[in-house]
Amino acid sequence: MRLYNTLTRQKEQFVPRAPGKVAMYICGPTVYNHIHIGNARTFLSFDVIRRYLRWSGFEVTYVQNITDVDDKIINRAREEGRSPAEVAAEYTEAFIAAMHALGIEDPDIRPRATAEIPAMVELIGCLIGSGHAYEVDGDVYFAVRSFEDYGKLSGRDIEQMQSGARVEIDPRKRDPLDFALWKAAKPGEPSWDSPWSQGRPGWHIECSAMSAKYLGNPFDIHAGGDDLVFPHHENEIAQSEACSHTTFANYWLHGGMLTIDREKMSKSEGNFLLLKDVLQHVRPQALRLLMLQTHYRSPFDYSAERLQEATVALERVEGAVRNLEWTIENAAVKLGGSASDDQSEKALTLINRIEATRKQFKSSMDDDFNTAGAVAAIFELVTIANSSITETLQSALLKDAVTVARQTIVELLAVLGVVVGSDEDRSEELPQELVTLAAEMAGYSGDKPAEAVETLLAVRREAREKKDWARADAVRDGLATLGFTIEDTAAGTRVVRKG
Ligand SMILES: [Zn+2]
Repeated sequence: MRLYNTLTRQKEQFVPRAPGKVAMYICGPTVYNHIHIGNARTFLSFDVIRRYLRWSGFEVTYVQNITDVDDKIINRAREEGRSPAEVAAEYTEAFIAAMHALGIEDPDIRPRATAEIPAMVELIGCLIGSGHAYEVDGDVYFAVRSFEDYGKLSGRDIEQMQSGARVEIDPRKRDPLDFALWKAAKPGEPSWDSPWSQGRPGWHIECSAMSAKYLGNPFDIHAGGDDLVFPHHENEIAQSEACSHTTFANYWLHGGMLTIDREKMSKSEGNFLLLKDVLQHVRPQALRLLMLQTHYRSPFDYSAERLQEATVALERVEGAVRNLEWTIENAAVKLGGSASDDQSEKALTLINRIEATRKQFKSSMDDDFNTAGAVAAIFELVTIANSSITETLQSALLKDAVTVARQTIVELLAVLGVVVGSDEDRSEELPQELVTLAAEMAGYSGDKPAEAVETLLAVRREAREKKDWARADAVRDGLATLGFTIEDTAAGTRVVRKG
């Protein structure tokens, strides 16, 4: 497995610090607002990477923090006349709900900054003790020039930063580049005890302290959006390595930015989308599928048109999986080798394709998590599998091949977090009106749409056998009013959604 490391600016062989285990930290949200789809893309990308690592056999420990104390939260609370804790609690809950809506798994550990202050105070104490930080009037600053490697992640030169900096001049800082580790509280602000003042931590120190506490240093993968490379991640490295004298994180993975209709997302330009608003109009699985079709490090362009295409692609895959399931259930395998040569040949083609798909999926994902290549491999299998089932399955070999093809499609999509083909999904899609229809026409007394369909088809079959065409047609018409047509095939009868 090779992955691109921002620190070395190249793809590297992935070697975890302990064989078979991956310790991974991803910077979480500052909870002062609902997250936008740019954040959502970052979190989705690393959700997929985590799932793939696990599928590849690694035991993954995944930590994502919540920054629940910050200037932005305090400002928002002041604007709205409530406490920072209330604002943070509201948006923490909203964030977790949005992650669940998008099918993003909970982290193994979700530390909240306000519950981890002692670890931060300890780290700041270590930095002061070793001469990398200094206190002024209850504030503590990191002395950037005391850390030789400053700039190694972002590739910035400290002298250029200095000359190009639009850093506000704060006479209390020894150097304009120095950044705050601890801020003394103003009246009414949330604060905690420390040796320097009643105050609160700076943002950067939170991640240094929490990742070390839960994962140790060095840990394997530090991840986040590429807007965090500088200064956030650069500062995390400086703080952590200045104190521990060991590497902070071995691999740095950064997700690319998101544009909307090729424009940079910006509130002032009016093209700013919150995840929760997008999910009002679109299935989360379609949004996921769309995002997967761009490599996680590349810029991703969001548009309503592309989202529509992804929805169609998702429906095509779901339809194919349902067709495969139905064909398997309704196979009429002939024993004694009487199946046609044509079906045996199809079986061999399909078996070859399944193997090729698995290989292509794995080689794509092992190459810096190329999800676009992985999705393309699955789509190709969908096409070939679909074309293998134009008639009733009579060959045992073809039935087996179709069964494995279905399993493979469902399994590999699930590795990417796209769930298709479960029975629950199917019954959810069938409208409840089918139950009413079956109750009226066939005396059905249950409440499951899928069962209702079976009951209706049984009534129609019986009517046709008795040549009661009026009754048979009534079933057909009843289903048609709900948007379904009946298909009679060699293998039996089924109901499909029209158009
Ligand atoms: Zn962070």
